[in-house]
Amino acid sequence: MKLKETALVYLDRSGGLQKFLDDCKLYNDSKQSCAVFRFLILINPSDIVELDAVLGNYVMHEPVKATRIFKSVCFTAVQTLSLIQQLQTEDQINIVLKLTHLPSLPSYVLSLCKFPFDYTTQRFYILEGIVVAMTTVTKYTQGARFVCSDDACQLSEGFQYIRVHTPGATESATLRNDFVCSLCTSPLREDMKYRVLGDKQVAELIDSKATTAFQGFSTSKIQRFQSFTVFLRDELANKMKIGNKYKVIGIPVCMQNSSQVALCLEANRVDCPTITGPCCISEKFKYLISLTSNSYWKFTAVLANTFASQVVPAGIYNHLKLAILLSLVQTTDRDDATGYVDLLVMTNDSLILERLC
Ligand SMILES: [Zn+2]
Repeated sequence: MKLKETALVYLDRSGGLQKFLDDCKLYNDSKQSCAVFRFLILINPSDIVELDAVLGNYVMHEPVKATRIFKSVCFTAVQTLSLIQQLQTEDQINIVLKLTHLPSLPSYVLSLCKFPFDYTTQRFYILEGIVVAMTTVTKYTQGARFVCSDDACQLSEGFQYIRVHTPGATESATLRNDFVCSLCTSPLREDMKYRVLGDKQVAELIDSKATTAFQGFSTSKIQRFQSFTVFLRDELANKMKIGNKYKVIGIPVCMQNSSQVALCLEANRVDCPTITGPCCISEKFKYLISLTSNSYWKFTAVLANTFASQVVPAGIYNHLKLAILLSLVQTTDRDDATGYVDLLVMTNDSLILERLC
């Protein structure tokens, strides 16, 4: 009970309560009949730990338990203030706790290079990596309503059997045909018109240390790099771009797929890490520009010639390296990237030109 009071105090202080009330109003005003009401609650781990260490600990280390506490608080609020007329049971509330950050401590970092993973405790971790592959956005079942198939049973109507997606669950955990009524053991059937679909996207991330493997340095330590699957759902779909580096907060999930066991991460938050590259042009580069300033093309040619010389000896694959350099110049993290590189190409080989475009 005390934890629920603290959760309410946190919601009130953080502005989450007002947002919740606004969301309730939207649902109540909506003409659409819903079986599941989804609410996002933004949680700042530092603030909540300061308010109550036990609740803070639950949020970061036992999110399922913490979600249950917030769900109960929200249900009580909806009932006492009669915020949503349609809502009948607590199961109809789907609470998703969204973290603002995690403490930057080693125990919260999930390193893709380190084995074994601790995936038995379903708690939040930070993972950093580069996106190497991505699927298109597809649909998944966010929530569904089931009723007892026996018309004589009192649970053949109402909203007692609501199933919502929980982090790490597969589609079959939400939707299956072998659920039975707890009152009369008749099979449950889904009321299809209440099915709620959400967006889902799967991304493959690789540790940024893996890029050192392509730099041609032979290290005595043998390293193994394997990509890691990250699930992006609902508001996180389309948040990532191939080739970019991201910091993901999420819950590791062990997926049993026939004979294989795969470890994945269910994302809760996606951020672009602050870029720590050089903020100015180095003296050596300035010197090179001054040396080659007598020609428009020399600087680019020298750069293409020596680019990636640790991997490819200077002077080889110049066309390819020039294309990579141009692509690097154009690659930016901004979404409103409208800058283009103008090129003047003089050649009688149209194939190279086509490849550049
Ligand atoms: Zn029944």
